Amino acid sequence: MKKLKICFFVSIIFLTIGAASFLFMPIARDSSSATYKIPLLINGLVFWISFIIGYFFVFLSNAMRKKIIKIKIPTCTQHLNDSIMKSLRQEVTCMKNRSRSRKRTPWDEHNDLTATQEYLQMHYVARYEERHPRLADAGEADMINSYIPAKCPYCSSDDFVCKGFDSIGIRRYKCRCGKYFKPTTGTIFDSRKIPISEWIEYCLNIFRYVSLNADSWNNRNAISTSKYWLKKLFLTLEEWQKNIVLSDTVWLDETYYSVIMSDREHKEDGTLPRGLSRNQICIGVATDKKHTVCIMEGYGKPSQKRSYEAFQSHIQPNSLLIHDKENTHKKLVSELSLQSVCYASKDLKGLADSENPLDPVNRVHMLLKMFLNAHSGFCRDDIQDYLNLYSFVINPPSDHLEKVEKIIELVFKNPKSLKYRDQFGLNT
Ligand SMILES: [Zn+2]
Repeated sequence: MKKLKICFFVSIIFLTIGAASFLFMPIARDSSSATYKIPLLINGLVFWISFIIGYFFVFLSNAMRKKIIKIKIPTCTQHLNDSIMKSLRQEVTCMKNRSRSRKRTPWDEHNDLTATQEYLQMHYVARYEERHPRLADAGEADMINSYIPAKCPYCSSDDFVCKGFDSIGIRRYKCRCGKYFKPTTGTIFDSRKIPISEWIEYCLNIFRYVSLNADSWNNRNAISTSKYWLKKLFLTLEEWQKNIVLSDTVWLDETYYSVIMSDREHKEDGTLPRGLSRNQICIGVATDKKHTVCIMEGYGKPSQKRSYEAFQSHIQPNSLLIHDKENTHKKLVSELSLQSVCYASKDLKGLADSENPLDPVNRVHMLLKMFLNAHSGFCRDDIQDYLNLYSFVINPPSDHLEKVEKIIELVFKNPKSLKYRDQFGLNT
């Protein structure tokens, strides 16, 4: 990558010298000096040599750029399995497609449009622009200015003063360390090119179990933008479940979600193992009907240790635990002095929901599967991020707009940033 940058830089220098010598050519030609042929000759030589070298480096940069994209993936194959490769290819495709705006229509480069094409294009673009207002027109400055930073994002000092506003009315601060910053500095809204109102629509879609692809079309965003925003949402909700403590009566049960097809382990005869194997991701779900916690407990059947580690800080000691896995939850029950009411799984089979004592947690399992299925192709390494997001969706507040309000508060009060280049290895 460094070599590519050097080549590009060198080509720019030589092309600039070539262009300058071209501009000076008339001066050299009109020279009244008796030896005018010499400056003209030198000028001509400089022009041609610069352009030849310049174009050579342009060609070299282009070849290197293509080679980087082609070579990077095969070298990884030695170390990565198929699923990671697939995910990488998807990311690279996204990178290549990132500039393919949803604003485009098939007739953008055409001049002789039919009345129908003109009508379709006009309405499609109008809808896009309605959904993508310019930052200056978004009217978000007052909302952003209402969040006063607690400390300087550069040196953590609280010794800073207001220093005017930026071009769209967002307040600027100057710290004693000499740096300027805004309420959005160091948050996921830092350096945003689109208004926060788009983020609101995006969150509302995700809360309604809409897939990234569907959201991407609804909001007229590139799919890479939707993926990037999802990562930002994950980052914001990273510690969301940390402080949830369930109390009184707690229902606890594990459910399973398959690893992706290419990651499944096969037996020696090529068939898939039956029952709970490492091909199943174990997700522990606990609820007290007021709040819910979802934690990935590993692969296959959960152990006492994993179950205890997952829920020890999320269940208040001395609570009543309703479950169907006496052995798995043994340590949890004894360490937290829980009262245990355990049912045998075989006795619960075939019971109507209204009669099933584990119904509160079974309902959460069902909704969780629906949520995960809306993103079924997701990388399973991110499953805890999806569980944090799902937990946010089903816990109070129940109104989706209040959830968005909570997220915006989290963004400003607990700043975390994710740059596009960190996500896709690019600068945009
Ligand atoms: Zn500072």
